[in-house]
Amino acid sequence: MIQAKGYAAQSPTNDLAPWDFERRDVGAHDVQIEILYCGVCHSDLHQITNDWFEGIFPMVPGHEIVGRVIKVGDHVKNFKVDDLAGVGCMVDSCQQCDNCKQDLEQYCLEGNTQTYNNLDRSGVPTYGGYSNTIVVREEFVLHISDKVDLAATAPMLCAGITTYSPLRFWKVGKGHKLAVLGLGGLGHMGVKWGVAFGAEVTVLSTSPNKEQAAKDLGAHHFVVTSDKEQVKKVKGTFDFILDTVSAEHDMHLYLSMLKTNGTHICVGAPPKPMEVPVFDLLGGRKSVAGSGIGGIKETQEMLDFAAEHNIACDVEIIDIKNITASYERMVKGDVRYRFVIDMATL
Ligand code: NAP
Ligand code: ZN
Repeated sequence: MIQAKGYAAQSPTNDLAPWDFERRDVGAHDVQIEILYCGVCHSDLHQITNDWFEGIFPMVPGHEIVGRVIKVGDHVKNFKVDDLAGVGCMVDSCQQCDNCKQDLEQYCLEGNTQTYNNLDRSGVPTYGGYSNTIVVREEFVLHISDKVDLAATAPMLCAGITTYSPLRFWKVGKGHKLAVLGLGGLGHMGVKWGVAFGAEVTVLSTSPNKEQAAKDLGAHHFVVTSDKEQVKKVKGTFDFILDTVSAEHDMHLYLSMLKTNGTHICVGAPPKPMEVPVFDLLGGRKSVAGSGIGGIKETQEMLDFAAEHNIACDVEIIDIKNITASYERMVKGDVRYRFVIDMATL
């Protein structure tokens, strides 16, 4: 076994603290990565607090991983020692079902293996990226260009692909009015992609103080959702709403902002079910949809597109010792727009 160190929550009521653990040895098809940076996703907080469901503890969160390959198995074809590499939200899938065969491993019919808070296919708990090293089968490792900023690229592995994938699937672009709901880690990438794909982008936010920042990201318009006058002006105007909100919210309000035939795409994952008033849907043939991360092929396409077009996350690099304080700031919306742990501080 490989000795690893990281930060773990020992229970849903414990803060994260240093923890030593073991990872499997590098198998014939595995890549071992020395982790250099790991992004801090709101999903990490949902999971260490049992917000979604009962988790597996001790839990080492982190699924926005960038690092350097330090060892490869005998049958690894596409990676060699010293390559830059990334790992996102999943580390395995059945590879055989209809979805896996269509490069949709995130929707594996047997369930994909999540990078942490999950059991791998041999029943061993998975541990995430708030750690010095990880072992992953090569099919789930991404190539990272040596021309990009590594810290700013780490959150692309979750926040980046989760917003890229639905905008590509629904072919959002020129001629579309896209609203991005919630300007956090996912939301700021939604804005960048929307602008890059040629859409007219509006940020819908609960935070009036984010207006300038939204415009700096390239958003064309900004609406404070608590301001009745501003909301009135955007009723019935959006083709798509990309909903990145992490807590329950009023779907009636947002559905009223969609055009006829408009689509409200949920990527945010509030723990409790939300009411969707059917009359809001049938009064304009509107849809509510959802989207989860993206497949490996699409994640690589997204990373390559981002490297080519100079798109990356806006990040604040943190010392891992400040992780609990960073969660508190994230909940308050006090992050522009993603905390990224510098693993050298471990
Ligand atoms: P984040 O950085 O905390 O951003 C969430 C934003 O939502 C906040 O900045 C805030 O923006 C807005 N917000 C928060 N509470 C709100 C409320 N009660 N009502 C309205 N707006 C609210 O979180 P994140 O890392 O971007 O993650 C967002 C959500 O996506 C989380 O639930 C996460 O688990 C989920 N997620 C899903 C996937 C997937 O595969 N679908 C992947 C990754 C993450 P304003 O200040 O602008 O209002
Ligand atoms: Zn995430």
